[in-house]
Formats: sequence, C-alpha cells, structure tokens
Amino acid sequence: MSKDLCRSCGSCGFPMRNPGDYAGGNPAAEYCSTCALDDGQLKPYEEVVHANAEYLVREQGLDLLAAREMARALLASMPAWREQR
Ligand SMILES: [Zn+2]
Repeated sequence: MSKDLCRSCGSCGFPMRNPGDYAGGNPAAEYCSTCALDDGQLKPYEEVVHANAEYLVREQGLDLLAAREMARALLASMPAWREQR
C-alpha cells in the first residue's frame, strides 16, 4: 500500500486508509467521504459537524448533543476550519 493511501482528512483528521474513505472514493481527495461531496468539495461547516456527530454516535455510542460538541471541538483544531471561526 502506498503512503498516499494513509493520509488523514484535512477537515476532521480521520485517517483515510481505503479508497472508500476518501471523498468520492478518489485517493487524491483532500477530505474524507464524511466531510466532502463526491467531487471532493468540502461540505458546509454545519453539515460537516452533523456528519461527524452522526459518525461519533454510530461508532462511539455518544448521544447526539455530546457528539455535536465533540465534533465542533474536533473541527476547530483542523486546518480546513481554523480560519473560518
Ligand atoms: Zn473528514
């Protein structure tokens, strides 16, 4: 597996290991499939918060409010969002 397949999402930091983890299944994408549309464009902030919160609910069993808080804190530290806040 090439190094390029082990980047992390520029929006949420999710490690993208499989082509399916990348937006649109394209390993050249900068963002994961949770944060970006199939064409690789980053989704609007609120949508990304929501998508990441749902992921945390699913994967970690958090309740939705706690998951949204965590998603906002996570995104605040990422390069894709740092300048927008
Ligand atoms: Zn992401």
